[in-house]
Amino acid sequence: MKELICPKCGSTTHNLYENVCKNCFFKQFKLAELDPVISTQICARCGSKFERGQWTDTKHDTNTVLEKVESELLLHENADIIELGFEPQKLTPYQYIVNVYIQAEIYGMPLEEKLTTEVRVQRSVCDACSRIAAGYYEGIIQLRASNRNPTDDEKKKCDHLVRETLTRMEKKGDRLAFISNMSSSKEGTDYYIGSSGACRQICKIITSKLGGEHQESPSLFSQRDGKELYRVSYAVRLPKYVPGDILYFNNQVLQIKNCDKKAKCIDLQTGKKVIASIEDIEKAEFLGVYNDAKRAVLVAIEDNSIMVLDPTNYQTVTLKKPFFLTASEGEEIPVLKTEYGMIPIPEELKA
Ligand SMILES: [Zn+2]
Ligand SMILES: [Zn+2]
Repeated sequence: MKELICPKCGSTTHNLYENVCKNCFFKQFKLAELDPVISTQICARCGSKFERGQWTDTKHDTNTVLEKVESELLLHENADIIELGFEPQKLTPYQYIVNVYIQAEIYGMPLEEKLTTEVRVQRSVCDACSRIAAGYYEGIIQLRASNRNPTDDEKKKCDHLVRETLTRMEKKGDRLAFISNMSSSKEGTDYYIGSSGACRQICKIITSKLGGEHQESPSLFSQRDGKELYRVSYAVRLPKYVPGDILYFNNQVLQIKNCDKKAKCIDLQTGKKVIASIEDIEKAEFLGVYNDAKRAVLVAIEDNSIMVLDPTNYQTVTLKKPFFLTASEGEEIPVLKTEYGMIPIPEELKA
């Protein structure tokens, strides 16, 4: 084999590594470099990290510390890294010691190295947390219902949708997707939301799930650096009628089964399905709900009619036999007393 002379030390060798002999190569070779002290900034309230002038969501301090160490670690570009291990040790919330273990190969020769660094953690408050603390909001969602108060069930469903949407948007990177304040009354709930984009998304989701509509009305609240800043009110109006409501509409007695884009109803006389636009159904006359019904004794059942005892004056009344009737003679059935006469209604009002 050809003998070569190392230009650095003059010794003879069979192989040169980056133009010097093996000894000289390893004398100057540095597998990895890491500053003995590095620092990072973490939000004391939410755990977000501050890097390259920007706050980013992370929820786990130790991960943030390790990511920081990894990003600061310089590895020789020609080395093949076989294993890279990090061993964090939390001394205080402000100080970590991290050991880094590296197993590598360079020009087919195995190498091992252990480095240690101290990570100093600065605890400050991120942009989003300081805005939450200051009560910052860009939009108010006003949840209401048309000509009635929203039910507890609707309020609960909406609250769930609001929070679920905010969590999703925060994960997508909208750092202002938070509730900075809320207030609730019989008439509905107001949500003060950090991001107006999140408000719009929430309104879309609520009206697609529960029906109704929403309106935006912006109002200028300040000017900063020549930029006009708006706060937007989002009025969400849930539909006037909810599943189970019994209405008088186009000479029919209807019960609402579902009310979102359209009102889906059932004709309580014939059992026929009726679909009406929200606009039309809002003109219907409200007759009542199951809880408004009285119990009346079913006296007789014929082919097309039934006889019931009016629970207020005990007179016998003959009515058309409703399609849903399952009760037998002598049993009680729920009826609504209305200006259109006595109306038998179904027992189960599950929508
Ligand atoms: Zn040499
Ligand atoms: Zn924060």
